[in-house]
Amino acid sequence: MKKIDLRSDTVTRPSNEMRQIMATADVGDDVYGEDPSINELEERAAELLNKEAALFLPSGTMANQVALLTHTVPGQEVVLGDESHIFYYEVGGLARLGSLQARTVSDENGYLEPAAVEHAIRGENIHYPETGLICMENTHNRRGGISYGTDRVEPIAELAKSKGIPLHLDGARLFNAAYQEDVDPGDLVAGFDSVMFCLSKGLGAPVGSMLAGSEEFIKSARKNRKLLGGGMRQAGIIAAAGLYALENRNVLKADHEQAEELAEIIEGFKTDKLEVFRQSTNFVMLACNNQGGAELISQKLNDAGILTNQFSDRLIRLVTHQDLTEGDLQVFAERMEEIIAGL
Ligand SMILES: *Cc1c(COP(=O)(O)O)cnc(C)c1O
Repeated sequence: MKKIDLRSDTVTRPSNEMRQIMATADVGDDVYGEDPSINELEERAAELLNKEAALFLPSGTMANQVALLTHTVPGQEVVLGDESHIFYYEVGGLARLGSLQARTVSDENGYLEPAAVEHAIRGENIHYPETGLICMENTHNRRGGISYGTDRVEPIAELAKSKGIPLHLDGARLFNAAYQEDVDPGDLVAGFDSVMFCLSKGLGAPVGSMLAGSEEFIKSARKNRKLLGGGMRQAGIIAAAGLYALENRNVLKADHEQAEELAEIIEGFKTDKLEVFRQSTNFVMLACNNQGGAELISQKLNDAGILTNQFSDRLIRLVTHQDLTEGDLQVFAERMEEIIAGL
């Protein structure tokens, strides 16, 4: 049975064209700053995001952790969403690596409310830690791939600036957000002091993430990357794939269309046991309206060769990506119809 893998947009494999480009990439020792492919990728990423400089890292997690280390000093507090990736999925790195304390605020709608952030920022008091950083996430992973535009960023950016606190964006799927919001990525990140995005998600590269910011910020981030063991040598071989992925970022459009189609297929089988909870960018979140229903339904999907990600006892996540074909959606519809009929 052919498997249809909707667990994440990280499951894509490099195309033949991408492999060809990797095989012929110009390389050098990047710890000496001598890898031309990495240098080109870093320049291109900085240019696209309208920042002074950028840094190539092995993963989004490392890029976020390097950003935390670079912006803060131990003992400070970081204001971030209660279901943000940095808080939820990075193995407690902020406490463990940065000796930082998390101050979570609700990100229920995918973005942070300025009033909640303002309330969370510490004033002057002998008992208090200092607020060292504010983090946002766009698109928001655990909230179902929600994107938002500059109108949600600007009030937080102004607040951060007025308090002298740096603002970081976890933009693992930044280009999905920019495409969905129909805004230039550089404009979308203008209010942020630093930005992370992944090459290895919808963009389709096998490895790598970028961190962008000021010249000075990237200079110390480069040192913190070394601290975490992320100084690589002839990694131009993967940076070349990243650059190819970045230049072909218009593939994301098809992913969003496919996610819409998946949602339509499921909505077409009207049932109160399983419905589309949310569809945004390349994500479809399904709500299973029975106690523990998500486990049962994701198991049934799995048995039918449809791989998904169970998010809670009620929610299942489906993510579209460039390795899906038109035929996959047809097969998905057929298998889904059978599963829903059997519920
Ligand atoms: C995937 C993801 C990351 C981490 O990226 P990795 O490359 O998997 O370490 C960080 N933030 C968000 C929002 C993500 O979705």
